[in-house]
Amino acid sequence: MSDKHESSVITSDKRPATSDQGKHREPKKPREHYKLRTRMIHGSFATGRWDYDHHVVPPQSSSATYRLQSVHRGAEGFEEFGSDVAQRAPIYIYDRLDEPTRGMLEENLAVAEGGEIAVTFATGMAAISAAICSMVSHGDQIVAHRILYGCTFSLLTNWVPHYGVRTDFCDLSKPENILKAATPDCRIVYFETPVNPTMELIDIAGVRRVVDQLNKDRKEEEKIKIVVDNTFATPYCQRPLELGADVVVQSLTKAIGGFGTDMGGVLVGSSRYYQKWMMYRKDFGGVLSPKAAWPILVYGLPTLATRMVNQQKTALHVAEFLLKQPKVASVVYPGLPNFPQLALAKQQMVSYDGKFAPGSLLYFELKGAAGNADDAGVRFVDYIAEHAYTITLAVSLGQIKTLIENPYSMTHAAVPPEEKMKSGLRPGGIRLSLGLEDWHDITADLELGLAVV
Ligand SMILES: *Cc1c(COP(=O)(O)O)cnc(C)c1O
Repeated sequence: MSDKHESSVITSDKRPATSDQGKHREPKKPREHYKLRTRMIHGSFATGRWDYDHHVVPPQSSSATYRLQSVHRGAEGFEEFGSDVAQRAPIYIYDRLDEPTRGMLEENLAVAEGGEIAVTFATGMAAISAAICSMVSHGDQIVAHRILYGCTFSLLTNWVPHYGVRTDFCDLSKPENILKAATPDCRIVYFETPVNPTMELIDIAGVRRVVDQLNKDRKEEEKIKIVVDNTFATPYCQRPLELGADVVVQSLTKAIGGFGTDMGGVLVGSSRYYQKWMMYRKDFGGVLSPKAAWPILVYGLPTLATRMVNQQKTALHVAEFLLKQPKVASVVYPGLPNFPQLALAKQQMVSYDGKFAPGSLLYFELKGAAGNADDAGVRFVDYIAEHAYTITLAVSLGQIKTLIENPYSMTHAAVPPEEKMKSGLRPGGIRLSLGLEDWHDITADLELGLAVV
């Protein structure tokens, strides 16, 4: 009985399970030899994490607690919790500690981002707060780019200071600015690239070089870590860990989830963070529910590459269309030849196949009559909200449906107006997240909106 139970619970990739129901299948060619696009579909669905040998799709796990055959095994489970994932088969105890559906998603997300391990959270913000709070303590400093997702900015300015940690904001589009901003107490450099919503890029490898300079004479525990929010690009278009970041955060709610049905977040990095993040998540409690992990595992991540290929093509068509419109003042899309940081874009936004991958988001501004460009932008979005079939006024991004919003007043409301203006985020600016609709329909809807402003 006990043998059978143990084999049906878990084994790692390296320790294939054998059970009464069938042999654990290992592909003849190692998984690493397959293309990432393929691996995101098949993932570790044949993993020994969980015995579901007769299913093609993993069943949705739903168990708050787990049967333990002995006190000894329970004690062992608590003792081993969060220890080296690659070598050890977890002993499941309680959903908040660890759970198989979430665990499979984490294995696949680590592969997608090119990291050793991944730990998921209930939302992107739960992942971001865990990344930051698990790495700083009283007296430390964070250096962050001056424009951040509104809630991240609010976290760093409203909550993190309560714990005696301050954040200094600077323009990281010039990585050498870190040299001026960072004090000996600096522990984290934090940014998004492309920056939400201005689409400005930050040179990840450039930041790495500057941080290496600062880290040269620091003790290991005082070294500055680079944390990159990769939500805008997705791992299909950019892998910050390969470019020198220490930690990647993702909101799974966006393009990785892809269908707009569930929220989630993830941290990806070296296996030396695993225990810390698992402990943090256990005690702060922001776990990703297995019911929310399941659609991301089964629908979201497996279709990421194919969705991005198409959404990206649409983004280019729409960007080119907007560029030609007399009422449009500017279009910022990393795939356009006029993109100010095109060389950097081509260098760091690259698909799994090595192709230029500028993403599915763009930012644009309208001209409007003398002085009322801001007003024109808002009127345009309001018109789209009411009359467009293919474009929805809603926050969020990266979904199969095209979404439009006014970041100045909505997602970036928490950022002070002077910071927004300095970074070129104007009250009338418009963010467009391209979906999977036929692009001709999208441009036709945009054309109708442009006619009335
Ligand atoms: C949406 C978003 C987040 C927050 O993610 P949630 O899942 O909504 O908590 C963080 N960063 C960026 C860039 C985002 O777009």
